[in-house]
Amino acid sequence: ERIISSQSVPDDTKLDTSLRPRSLDDFIGQAKIKDNLAVTMMAARARKEALDHVLLYGPPGLGKTTLAYIIAHGMEVNIRITSGPAIERPGDLAAILTGLQPHDVLFIDEIHRLGRTVEEILYPAMEDFALDIVIGKGPGAKSLRLKLPPFTLIGATTRYAMLSSPLRDRFGSIYRLDFYTDADIEAILRRSAEILGVQADQAGLREIACRARGTPRVANRLLKRVRDYAQVRGRGVIDCGIAQTALGRLEIDAVGLDNIDHQLLRAIIEKFSGGPVGLETLAAAISEDTDTIMDIYEPYLMQLGFLERTPRGRVATRRAYEHLGLKYPKSRLA
Ligand code: ATP
Repeated sequence: ERIISSQSVPDDTKLDTSLRPRSLDDFIGQAKIKDNLAVTMMAARARKEALDHVLLYGPPGLGKTTLAYIIAHGMEVNIRITSGPAIERPGDLAAILTGLQPHDVLFIDEIHRLGRTVEEILYPAMEDFALDIVIGKGPGAKSLRLKLPPFTLIGATTRYAMLSSPLRDRFGSIYRLDFYTDADIEAILRRSAEILGVQADQAGLREIACRARGTPRVANRLLKRVRDYAQVRGRGVIDCGIAQTALGRLEIDAVGLDNIDHQLLRAIIEKFSGGPVGLETLAAAISEDTDTIMDIYEPYLMQLGFLERTPRGRVATRRAYEHLGLKYPKSRLA
């Protein structure tokens, strides 16, 4: 398992639940999103209406599921959790929609992976709280419209561009989650350490924060591993030295990159002269699939300014060369 993967792994489930902030006040960072959500939630509650549909997008592990829970909790309604690939047929979605209570939240993760026919059921459901059912086939077929309780759809996706525009247009608010600053991650780690009863000093937390890839899920996972190390090899307290040694043993470098990130950058630099190289070619060179590269590796490498996506393919930047201790070729200094 890749320790710094931003995707959830089975081992995270317990950790995610115990460390998940319950209210907007507990949710650290993403200030603009929090402000906007607080206002729309307050307004909807005052009008005794369901909150307008919300779309959350951004790399994995930044808190989309957490925000969905916070919204449901703040609106004092139930939340039903599902995902795009889990809803195979229009009937599956119809069953979920008819089972909702007024104002409930329906959270669909990976909403970009909904099938076409399922997505078409969503349009009238989101817009008019109605379910259109076709009975029979051929010329004798009849369409029936069922009323649904007003509800809030919260869609989450790592791929905003893959959403069809009719679907996008039906969301009242659309929020992009960004990577967290190191200071925010440090604050998240402080909160998590308190909840888990872990002793850590500021330098120790800072050391973990700067290697957590701006991602709360990764930060919490690293905290757990460093805690184990502190317990077995130290005095149980996470300080800078303990954090550095523990993270070094996990082969995570000073900016949070692991072997796979290094492999990817080295492939661009050494096999393709720094790029541009097409995504498919790059994927084949490091035996990874293109989706994983796009969703998991690239966003953080781009955030660091190590990688650029250009129309002709992926390019390693000068910073990437320098980080790997390689000389930036003169021929590229245009
Ligand atoms: P995915 O898209 O993979 O489901 P996600 O973006 O929905 O990821 P979450 O499951 O919401 O991510 O968050 C991952 C973990 O990070 C959770 O344990 C949560 O407690 C923690 N977390 C996320 N955002 C914050 C935050 N702003 N403050 C504190 N903890 C956070």
